[in-house]
Amino acid sequence: MTRAAVAAIDLGATSGRVVVGRFDADTVRLDVVERFLNNPVRCWEGTTDGLHWNVLELFRSALIGLRKAVIDEPDLRSIGIDAWGLDYGLLRGGALLGNPYSHRDERTLEGVRATHELVSQKELYAASGMQFMPINTVYQFTADRLAGRVQAGDTALLIPDLMGYWLTGVPVAEHTNASTTGLLDIHTRGWSTKLANSLGFTASLFPQLVEPGTTLGLLLPTVQAEVGGQIPVVTVGSHDTASAVVGVPARGDEFAYVSCGTWALAGVELEMPVLSEAARVANFTNESGLDGRIRFLQNITGLWLQSESIRTWERAGLQIDLPALIREAAALPRGSVFDANDPRLLTPGDMPARIAQCCLEANQPVPHTLAEVTRAICESLAEAFAHTVRTASELSGKTVRVIHIVGGGSQNALLCQLTADRSGLPVIAGPVEATAFGNVLVQARTGRLISGSLEAMRAVITRSVTLQHYAPRG
Ligand code: ADP
Repeated sequence: MTRAAVAAIDLGATSGRVVVGRFDADTVRLDVVERFLNNPVRCWEGTTDGLHWNVLELFRSALIGLRKAVIDEPDLRSIGIDAWGLDYGLLRGGALLGNPYSHRDERTLEGVRATHELVSQKELYAASGMQFMPINTVYQFTADRLAGRVQAGDTALLIPDLMGYWLTGVPVAEHTNASTTGLLDIHTRGWSTKLANSLGFTASLFPQLVEPGTTLGLLLPTVQAEVGGQIPVVTVGSHDTASAVVGVPARGDEFAYVSCGTWALAGVELEMPVLSEAARVANFTNESGLDGRIRFLQNITGLWLQSESIRTWERAGLQIDLPALIREAAALPRGSVFDANDPRLLTPGDMPARIAQCCLEANQPVPHTLAEVTRAICESLAEAFAHTVRTASELSGKTVRVIHIVGGGSQNALLCQLTADRSGLPVIAGPVEATAFGNVLVQARTGRLISGSLEAMRAVITRSVTLQHYAPRG
């Protein structure tokens, strides 16, 4: 393996980071050079406007991070970008028409109703293989069409593609993230013109599809001046989950994964999509992964439940130490279980009160203390992970012998242990930065710093990190 470094811009739904990946002697080391918050901004009072991403601030933070990366590694080989899926910016003549909406904005509810008047959920699933979620791009797009916003644009760029466009001037749609829109034809792997037309917008809004590992071009001169280097930008699995799945340190293929951050994505990796009626009813999605693999998975509300609870407590003036709170929750004898995917838990607000209501309706003891709420969140997420993994295995016929938990949630020992207990399977936790690992590994393969299959790439991670093992308790 060649000694060399690349930089990853990794934008999560609550925070972003710029990471330098250094490759040396069959291992890779990650160093975070910049971290920044990603707080959506609500423009509400006195307007009909809603919840937006502050993408200019994200771009500015990414540039600061790249500048630091170049100072650390003047010979950076490339830059790759990944971010959360679904959300997009509308542009006209190359100019952004407004801050992209967050998928958590309430406008999508109207979008669901209006979309299903045109195309049923069954037809959407048959065409795209996408699970139903009210926050899906199709519903956002319909809501934006009803408001006249889509018609004002000539191009729609998903968040990482927007960042790539601002870095290089080249507009593309990277395939793994494009597959989260529900507008790709699962059979042809191209944009579904038929679906777009049925929904009343034109597929020409979407730029050319490219696979991970495509060199977009060099940084634009103005960006070069700011960053301090002439560096190529390479597409990676630009959907953060696609990169996270690349970053799962699995040996062999009999594994399931949970990419556990603000959202949790649980499922298996397949060669072919599963489009059965049972898969649709169970609400599984078939998103595209690296090297044509299918990410057969389900979105689970994830640690949003915890972070939104913490925000509620902090608004009330409390100071929260999450690791201490998790230890306190682990010392409790048991916890209540509620449906972590209850749609009422999706939007910002008083999460502990909503969880209490869900527990009440599920005939479970209502959690009162902070530790009890935390325990209920961990029990309920663990139950959702175990159930999803079991169902993914049944629907796809894939044997699962171990569950890998990656992302920020892999640091939550209580959640990992409860997942092992509830699934009856061993859990391997880590790495926290699986997404960044997946991002830099695809760049490294593109730049010929490493070679080989996805399995060979994963072996680089196994050699590079320490993982935690949890055995199921009786
Ligand atoms: P995203 O990329 O979606 O922003 P992350 O993968 O960074 O999310 O995961 C964030 C979550 O990880 C937090 O909401 C929190 O619940 C959990 N987390 C972060 N640090 C710790 C920690 N030290 N111990 C336990 N859980 C943690």
